[in-house]
Amino acid sequence: MGYKFITSLNDLKFNTSCYISNHKFNEADCKSKNIIELDCKHAFHYKLFMKSYIELNKSMYTYLKCPYCMADISKIPFRITINK
Ligand SMILES: [Zn+2]
Repeated sequence: MGYKFITSLNDLKFNTSCYISNHKFNEADCKSKNIIELDCKHAFHYKLFMKSYIELNKSMYTYLKCPYCMADISKIPFRITINK
């Protein structure tokens, strides 16, 4: 239930590359909490996901959906601080 941040590449359940950028996830992404896994188990680079999330939410029809499979997802928080 709900989204989570991936902290180890072994936690990736479905895809090992970001569907938005097509780049493979790496350990640095894990460390900086830059990988988010949605309810549907699809994972994205967090920053890219937020960009599409903001874009998608301009239309009520795509509100709170996975940009890949369009499954309903939990509300995702905007993270103000990046890892320090
Ligand atoms: Zn999905």
